[in-house]
Amino acid sequence: MSKLAEIQAAEQRLLIHTYDRFPVLFVAGEDVYLIDDEGNRYLDLLSGIGVNALGYSSKTIQNAIAEQSCKLINASNYFFNEKMAPLAERLVQLTGMDRAYFGNSGTEAVEAALKLARAHAGLLREEGRTIGTKFLALEQSFHGRTFGSISATYKEKYRLPFGPVVPGFEFVNFNDIEDLRAKFSSDVCAILLEAVQGEGGVRPLTSEFFAEARKLADSTGALLIVDEIQAGCGRTGKWCAYQHYDVKPDVTTLAKPLAGGIPMSATLCTNEVARAFHAGMHGTTFGGSPLACAAAIAFIDYVEKENLMEHVTETGEYFQQQLRALAQKHTCIVNVRGKGLMLAVELDSADLGKCAVTELLKKHIVINCTSDTVLRFLPPFIFQHEHVDQTVAALDEFFTENTGVAVAAGKKGEAAHG
Ligand SMILES: *Cc1c(COP(=O)(O)O)cnc(C)c1O
Repeated sequence: MSKLAEIQAAEQRLLIHTYDRFPVLFVAGEDVYLIDDEGNRYLDLLSGIGVNALGYSSKTIQNAIAEQSCKLINASNYFFNEKMAPLAERLVQLTGMDRAYFGNSGTEAVEAALKLARAHAGLLREEGRTIGTKFLALEQSFHGRTFGSISATYKEKYRLPFGPVVPGFEFVNFNDIEDLRAKFSSDVCAILLEAVQGEGGVRPLTSEFFAEARKLADSTGALLIVDEIQAGCGRTGKWCAYQHYDVKPDVTTLAKPLAGGIPMSATLCTNEVARAFHAGMHGTTFGGSPLACAAAIAFIDYVEKENLMEHVTETGEYFQQQLRALAQKHTCIVNVRGKGLMLAVELDSADLGKCAVTELLKKHIVINCTSDTVLRFLPPFIFQHEHVDQTVAALDEFFTENTGVAVAAGKKGEAAHG
């Protein structure tokens, strides 16, 4: 029995069934490649779902973890640690927020944001303002898997089996300003958005919709919460995706790549919002450990020192251009979109999307399909043009073999400007 088959059988018997995994056993990583138990190297455009932004050989991250783990891993939030304030200092500068709270996962960061919003509305009511407890979230949103965050998550499959979920959430049609206006009132304590939806299919908000959400929230004292767990930390070429827009949120959440693969999240907010929490109202055993904070500081240092956000922008533009050329050639591609290294190709069929992922995996390229028809690319920030070329060539080959709808090959050159 192969190692993989052994593990498959054991998991089948021992684990609660929450994942349908691909039959691959990764045992190591190097640069932008994952390596399986037989030594095959896979070009990685998933990065552990947007987590491994520096790839798999970052000495900066490895050294930060090694050094801090030898000194102190965790001593609880009853005491001060050396790394939390320095990390908070960096993050408030990068996000334009005033204060931070540290957790361990994206969903926890969202829970903290939702609790801040309810507590903040309570404070405003005490001060004589009229404001309710409702939340508005968006069609196709994804905010996590705990009760609060599934309540803000659009797809029914995440919520229905666990009902009743937290009451008071309503969904607004994506980028539909009229619907937003119709559903907003003084009952609402916060509007929760992703500047670029991730799981929902790499869908950016329009500036107009984002600005309207800000304006409506300001009109009542409601909060604008922007979930940057997937789009943040430099993935779109700016530290936060909302920085592409002229909008400042009241609360924002970061997680996925924040600590170079170590679980960590941050909920950041303005001084006004932070008034809503006092000691004892919220907390966590693990959050903000010196280990996670040291890894996060190392991640930020590296992104800044190497000008990685510029590289993300440049490589993302090149990648997007190549995908547009591919779309000119293959009519099964109905849309190409995204920003920086958060990119997507929307297909005209869910079967084709599924098939693309398994076929590219056979060619040792890891991609992902989200929202049924959307091939999503979240490569490490250190991705190079040669990696883009390799990916696009494999996609081209796949579409040619599997759709038979390639338009005359001569179109390829001129399509580069499309
Ligand atoms: C992944 C994700 C989450 C949930 O993060 P977890 O670490 O899986 O809990 C929340 N919001 C967005 C936008 C995400 O992409």
